[in-house]
Amino acid sequence: CGIVGYIGPNNAQDILISGLSKLEYRGYDSAGIAVGDGACIATRKKAGKLANLTADLEHSPLPGTFGIGHTRWATHGPPNDTNSHPHATENGDIVLVHNGIIENYLELKEGLLERGHQFRSDTDSEVVAHLIEEAYVGNLEEAVRAALAKVRGAYALVVTHKDHREIVAARTVSPLVMGVGEGEMFLASDVPALLNYTRQMVFIQDGDMVILNDDGYRITDMQGHPVQREVETIDWDA
Ligand code: GLU
Repeated sequence: CGIVGYIGPNNAQDILISGLSKLEYRGYDSAGIAVGDGACIATRKKAGKLANLTADLEHSPLPGTFGIGHTRWATHGPPNDTNSHPHATENGDIVLVHNGIIENYLELKEGLLERGHQFRSDTDSEVVAHLIEEAYVGNLEEAVRAALAKVRGAYALVVTHKDHREIVAARTVSPLVMGVGEGEMFLASDVPALLNYTRQMVFIQDGDMVILNDDGYRITDMQGHPVQREVETIDWDA
């Protein structure tokens, strides 16, 4: 029910956890993060309070400077460690978090099972990871776009790939805001998650896709055409 993302020079784990803690008011039953260090993406996720996840991370932190995080409010599949987000493909290359509901996930899942995909979770969200894997031929943005063309439902989706220092996000219905820092970029479901880091924010609109990397960001529509969105300065108190 809450999403965060970070790419930049700083420790991603700290920023993701801080962001998720500011989204606790949205309600959740599980939490997880995935952090990339350039070679691979490591995922840690736990049912229950965010404190369960942070206790685990204290013993063995996830080093790295880009990543994604999630607090889950289960709609498909009981709240447990496996159904918690992030979800990855079998080879672990593609990792994603999702808020919302994929309405046609059952028919999509049937097709994926017939084509040999193996599922680890009961969630609707994992279907999207497999669709992206099927469409992936080296360009994450294009693979996400091709996968989402098959999906019906509500989503804020944040995706990353172990071979790219890049985060691709998309939104239909579920909220998503982007924070623009100096040499770093942020994503979250809501403004409070980012206020400790930046006041420059872009409200991602329905049907937008956003591609973040160390140089900044691009926004497109679901067909890939460039879209301009205003950068707003938030002047509320944290
Ligand atoms: N439908 C997804 C699930 O059940 C995402 C729920 C959410 O928005 O937290 O895992």
